[in-house]
Amino acid sequence: MTTACSQGPLQFSIVVPIYNEEENIPELYRRLTLVLEKLCADSRFPKESYEIILVDDGSKDRSWELIRGLHEKDSRVQGLSFSRNFGHHIAITAGMDYAEGEAVVLMDGDLQDPPEEIPKLYQKLKEGFDLVCGIREQRSDNFFRRLASRLFWIIFKGLMRLDIQENQSMLRIMSKRYLSNFKKINEKNRFLAGLFAWAGFNQATIQIKHSPRFAGTSKYNLWKMMKLTFNAVASFSYFPLQLAGILGLVISTVSFVYGVTLIVRRIFLDIDVAGWASTMVAILFMGGVQLAFLGLIGEYIGRIFSEVQRRPLYMIKERVGIKRIDGSFLL
Ligand code: UDP
Ligand code: MG
Repeated sequence: MTTACSQGPLQFSIVVPIYNEEENIPELYRRLTLVLEKLCADSRFPKESYEIILVDDGSKDRSWELIRGLHEKDSRVQGLSFSRNFGHHIAITAGMDYAEGEAVVLMDGDLQDPPEEIPKLYQKLKEGFDLVCGIREQRSDNFFRRLASRLFWIIFKGLMRLDIQENQSMLRIMSKRYLSNFKKINEKNRFLAGLFAWAGFNQATIQIKHSPRFAGTSKYNLWKMMKLTFNAVASFSYFPLQLAGILGLVISTVSFVYGVTLIVRRIFLDIDVAGWASTMVAILFMGGVQLAFLGLIGEYIGRIFSEVQRRPLYMIKERVGIKRIDGSFLL
């Protein structure tokens, strides 16, 4: 049995969100251990200088059982188990809350981001950066997922005034000082890539490989992707709200011109206005536009509502290995 943190400071924390990944966990553990033990040896750290924090986001398969099993065999593996599914970005946030390493690595649990790239990220971090983010050279996903991702970045970059690079993977490494500052962000509807860019510090990117999933299927469905896109846009921009004003202005200008045209036609050309159909179309169109924008405003109000409720971001049902108890909630 290997005991974590028996000597020297903890150098690395690897945070991995897990949602129904039972087929991937053994392989993830095997490859991560190989990479991290070698990285520790090369950097002359003891091989206990790292922890792997697996955050089970309410899995319905045997993922949590496997995590507990791994912890019994190797106490460098630690685990948190959520009381239900809270979502990818929240699971990562929980892992970051408990990570104690000098450098903290985030990665997905399906091996799409190869663990073998971690040493490259660490080398770059040592050059004096606070956040080094992996950029996918080529995305190994199906056509629909690639298209969705492309559209997402077009919308996001079009609306945001953030210096943010496209094709970011979750695989990234950060310094302790970056993380302790980042933890002050406690908004609930969080879009991590945007917040990471917003936080500042010295950031760098490096190209990394992107593989197809080792096993299983994507845990993102169309609804989750749409929610993420809206979250991303709404957390960094009021543009959707301003759009109501812009559209209102355009429509009233067009209607004004049209109204004047009708009066001129009636008075000077004596052409009468027929048109039940056009009136109905105009009313329905305007009704639709107004309802759509009411809905949009509602979304923003909903976000304000969920922020002022101040509920905890996540609830933890069980944990293995993690001893520190954050004051913000009860375990
Ligand atoms: N995940 C999670 N909670 C969720 C959805 C996903 O913790 O509600 C995890 C999942 O197990 C994986 C990572 O987040 O480790 C990325 O998910 P996925 O591979 O399904 O996303 P994609 O690569 O398709 O964007
Ligand atoms: Mg994936």
